[in-house]
Amino acid sequence: MPTRSDQLAEYRRKRDFARTREPRGATGRRTATRLAYVIQRHEATRLHFDLRLELDGVMKSWAVPKGPSLDPAVKRLAIEVEDHPIDYNSFEGTIPAGEYGGGTVMLWDRGTYTYAGDSDEPLAALRDGYRKGDFKFELRGKRLRGSWVLVRTRRSGRKNQWLLIKHRDERADPDVDPVEKYRTSVTTGRTMAQIAAGTKPRRRRR
Ligand code: MN
Repeated sequence: MPTRSDQLAEYRRKRDFARTREPRGATGRRTATRLAYVIQRHEATRLHFDLRLELDGVMKSWAVPKGPSLDPAVKRLAIEVEDHPIDYNSFEGTIPAGEYGGGTVMLWDRGTYTYAGDSDEPLAALRDGYRKGDFKFELRGKRLRGSWVLVRTRRSGRKNQWLLIKHRDERADPDVDPVEKYRTSVTTGRTMAQIAAGTKPRRRRR
Protein backbone atom coordinates (compact mmCIF):
# COMPACT_ATOMS: atom_id res chain seq x y z
CA MET A 1 0.00 0.00 0.00
CA PRO A 2 1.40 3.46 -0.80
CA THR A 3 2.41 5.66 2.09
CA ARG A 4 0.31 8.68 2.83
CA SER A 5 2.86 11.17 1.53
CA ASP A 6 3.02 9.21 -1.73
CA GLN A 7 -0.74 9.43 -1.94
CA LEU A 8 -0.57 13.21 -1.62
CA ALA A 9 2.32 13.65 -4.07
CA GLU A 10 0.07 14.73 -6.94
CA TYR A 11 -1.90 17.07 -4.68
CA ARG A 12 1.35 18.77 -3.61
CA ARG A 13 2.93 18.81 -7.04
CA LYS A 14 0.02 20.86 -8.40
CA ARG A 15 0.23 23.56 -5.78
CA ASP A 16 2.64 26.29 -4.68
CA PHE A 17 2.15 26.50 -0.92
CA ALA A 18 3.99 29.79 -0.82
CA ARG A 19 1.07 31.24 -2.78
CA THR A 20 -2.06 29.37 -1.76
CA ARG A 21 -3.45 29.01 1.75
CA GLU A 22 -4.72 25.51 1.07
CA PRO A 23 -3.25 23.02 3.56
CA ARG A 24 -0.07 21.17 2.68
CA GLY A 25 -1.52 18.09 4.32
CA ALA A 26 -0.47 16.33 7.47
CA THR A 27 0.87 12.83 7.04
CA GLY A 28 0.51 11.64 10.61
CA ARG A 29 -1.40 8.49 11.40
CA ARG A 30 -5.02 8.85 12.24
CA THR A 31 -7.19 6.21 13.76
CA ALA A 32 -10.64 7.37 12.83
CA THR A 33 -13.64 5.28 13.67
CA ARG A 34 -15.91 7.68 11.80
CA LEU A 35 -14.94 8.60 8.29
CA ALA A 36 -15.03 12.22 7.25
CA TYR A 37 -17.22 13.61 4.48
CA VAL A 38 -17.20 17.05 2.92
CA ILE A 39 -18.52 18.83 -0.17
CA GLN A 40 -16.92 22.11 -1.23
CA ARG A 41 -18.54 24.44 -3.73
CA HIS A 42 -15.69 25.61 -5.94
CA GLU A 43 -16.03 28.51 -8.31
CA ALA A 44 -12.94 27.87 -10.44
CA THR A 45 -12.72 28.19 -14.22
CA ARG A 46 -15.99 26.25 -14.07
CA LEU A 47 -18.28 25.96 -11.09
CA HIS A 48 -18.28 22.48 -9.57
CA PHE A 49 -18.80 20.67 -6.30
CA ASP A 50 -15.91 18.72 -4.80
CA LEU A 51 -17.13 15.59 -3.03
CA ARG A 52 -14.53 14.17 -0.65
CA LEU A 53 -14.77 10.91 1.30
CA GLU A 54 -12.11 9.74 3.73
CA LEU A 55 -10.48 6.41 3.00
CA ASP A 56 -7.17 5.12 4.38
CA GLY A 57 -5.93 8.46 5.63
CA VAL A 58 -6.73 10.67 2.66
CA MET A 59 -9.82 12.24 1.14
CA LYS A 60 -10.85 10.45 -2.05
CA SER A 61 -12.09 13.30 -4.25
CA TRP A 62 -14.51 13.78 -7.13
CA ALA A 63 -15.41 16.99 -8.96
CA VAL A 64 -19.14 16.97 -9.63
CA PRO A 65 -19.95 19.74 -12.16
CA LYS A 66 -23.68 19.92 -11.40
CA GLY A 67 -23.50 18.98 -7.74
CA PRO A 68 -25.52 16.28 -5.97
CA SER A 69 -29.15 15.49 -6.82
CA LEU A 70 -31.68 13.96 -4.42
CA ASP A 71 -33.54 12.39 -7.34
CA PRO A 72 -32.67 8.67 -7.71
CA ALA A 73 -33.43 8.92 -11.43
CA VAL A 74 -30.62 11.45 -11.94
CA LYS A 75 -27.01 10.41 -12.58
CA ARG A 76 -24.46 13.13 -11.99
CA LEU A 77 -21.06 12.99 -13.64
CA ALA A 78 -18.26 12.86 -11.05
CA ILE A 79 -14.66 13.18 -12.21
CA GLU A 80 -12.21 11.60 -9.81
CA VAL A 81 -9.32 13.92 -9.00
CA GLU A 82 -6.21 13.55 -6.87
CA ASP A 83 -6.47 12.49 -3.22
CA HIS A 84 -6.63 15.45 -0.86
CA PRO A 85 -5.35 15.73 2.72
CA ILE A 86 -7.87 15.32 5.53
CA ASP A 87 -7.23 18.84 6.79
CA TYR A 88 -8.54 20.15 3.46
CA ASN A 89 -11.96 19.52 5.01
CA SER A 90 -11.81 22.79 6.91
CA PHE A 91 -10.58 24.89 3.98
CA GLU A 92 -12.81 27.74 2.90
CA GLY A 93 -11.42 30.77 1.12
CA THR A 94 -9.89 31.91 -2.11
CA ILE A 95 -7.15 30.20 -4.09
CA PRO A 96 -5.18 32.93 -5.90
CA ALA A 97 -5.92 33.44 -9.59
CA GLY A 98 -3.34 31.69 -11.75
CA GLU A 99 -2.72 28.99 -9.16
CA TYR A 100 -4.04 25.45 -9.55
CA GLY A 101 -7.80 25.54 -8.88
CA GLY A 102 -7.75 29.33 -8.60
CA GLY A 103 -11.12 30.63 -7.36
CA THR A 104 -13.40 30.65 -4.35
CA VAL A 105 -14.06 27.60 -2.19
CA MET A 106 -17.10 27.29 0.10
CA LEU A 107 -17.66 24.55 2.65
CA TRP A 108 -21.05 23.44 1.37
CA ASP A 109 -21.68 20.35 3.50
CA ARG A 110 -19.74 18.29 5.98
CA GLY A 111 -20.14 15.42 8.37
CA THR A 112 -19.34 11.74 8.43
CA TYR A 113 -20.19 8.71 6.36
CA THR A 114 -20.33 4.96 6.65
CA TYR A 115 -20.59 1.99 4.35
CA ALA A 116 -24.15 1.74 3.01
CA GLY A 117 -24.91 -1.92 3.34
CA ASP A 118 -24.65 -4.86 5.63
CA SER A 119 -21.13 -5.98 6.28
CA ASP A 120 -19.21 -7.28 9.26
CA GLU A 121 -16.23 -5.41 7.86
CA PRO A 122 -17.50 -2.07 6.60
CA LEU A 123 -14.02 -0.65 6.00
CA ALA A 124 -13.06 -3.65 3.86
CA ALA A 125 -16.37 -3.28 2.02
CA LEU A 126 -15.61 0.39 1.30
CA ARG A 127 -12.10 -0.41 0.01
CA ASP A 128 -13.51 -3.18 -2.11
CA GLY A 129 -16.25 -0.92 -3.48
CA TYR A 130 -13.76 1.77 -4.36
CA ARG A 131 -11.49 -0.69 -6.13
CA LYS A 132 -14.36 -2.20 -8.08
CA GLY A 133 -15.86 1.15 -8.98
CA ASP A 134 -19.08 0.53 -7.05
CA PHE A 135 -18.76 2.66 -3.95
CA LYS A 136 -21.83 2.61 -1.70
CA PHE A 137 -21.92 5.09 1.14
CA GLU A 138 -24.34 6.62 3.62
CA LEU A 139 -23.94 10.30 4.41
CA ARG A 140 -24.51 11.90 7.77
CA GLY A 141 -23.95 15.47 6.80
CA LYS A 142 -25.57 18.66 8.02
CA ARG A 143 -27.43 18.93 4.72
CA LEU A 144 -27.17 15.65 2.85
CA ARG A 145 -28.16 12.34 4.40
CA GLY A 146 -29.00 8.89 3.26
CA SER A 147 -27.48 6.38 0.86
CA TRP A 148 -25.64 7.11 -2.37
CA VAL A 149 -23.49 5.26 -4.82
CA LEU A 150 -20.55 6.27 -6.99
CA VAL A 151 -20.27 4.01 -10.03
CA ARG A 152 -17.21 4.07 -12.26
CA THR A 153 -18.20 4.22 -15.92
CA ARG A 154 -16.56 2.04 -18.52
CA ARG A 155 -18.15 3.62 -21.54
CA SER A 156 -15.56 6.24 -22.30
CA GLY A 157 -12.58 4.14 -21.30
CA ARG A 158 -11.55 7.00 -19.06
CA LYS A 159 -10.83 5.56 -15.67
CA ASN A 160 -11.58 8.74 -13.75
CA GLN A 161 -15.24 9.08 -14.74
CA TRP A 162 -17.88 8.05 -12.24
CA LEU A 163 -21.59 8.65 -11.77
CA LEU A 164 -23.05 9.89 -8.49
CA ILE A 165 -26.54 8.51 -7.85
CA LYS A 166 -28.92 8.85 -4.92
CA HIS A 167 -30.35 5.59 -3.66
CA ARG A 168 -34.08 5.24 -3.15
CA ASP A 169 -34.56 5.79 0.57
CA GLU A 170 -36.44 8.15 2.87
CA ARG A 171 -33.91 10.91 2.10
CA ALA A 172 -34.52 10.80 -1.65
CA ASP A 173 -36.61 13.74 -2.88
CA PRO A 174 -36.97 14.54 -6.59
CA ASP A 175 -38.70 17.84 -5.75
CA VAL A 176 -35.81 19.40 -3.86
CA ASP A 177 -32.66 20.63 -5.58
CA PRO A 178 -30.04 20.90 -2.82
CA VAL A 179 -27.77 23.04 -5.00
CA GLU A 180 -30.51 25.68 -5.19
CA LYS A 181 -31.68 25.20 -1.62
CA TYR A 182 -28.32 25.68 0.08
CA ARG A 183 -26.54 28.81 -1.12
CA THR A 184 -24.32 29.59 1.86
CA SER A 185 -21.43 28.06 3.77
CA VAL A 186 -22.42 25.25 6.10
CA THR A 187 -19.81 26.42 8.63
CA THR A 188 -19.69 30.21 8.35
CA GLY A 189 -23.03 31.09 6.74
CA ARG A 190 -21.22 33.20 4.12
CA THR A 191 -22.18 33.52 0.48
CA MET A 192 -19.65 32.88 -2.28
CA ALA A 193 -19.34 36.66 -2.73
CA GLN A 194 -18.63 37.17 0.98
CA ILE A 195 -16.01 34.45 0.98
CA ALA A 196 -14.40 35.96 -2.13
CA ALA A 197 -14.40 39.40 -0.47
CA GLY A 198 -12.86 37.95 2.69
CA THR A 199 -15.83 38.99 4.85
CA LYS A 200 -15.27 37.82 8.42
CA PRO A 201 -17.43 34.85 9.40
CA ARG A 202 -20.34 35.65 11.68
CA ARG A 203 -20.71 33.78 14.87
CA ARG A 204 -22.41 30.50 14.16
CA ARG A 205 -26.06 30.15 15.00
CA ARG A 206 -27.08 27.45 17.42
MN1 MN B 1 -12.28 21.79 -7.19
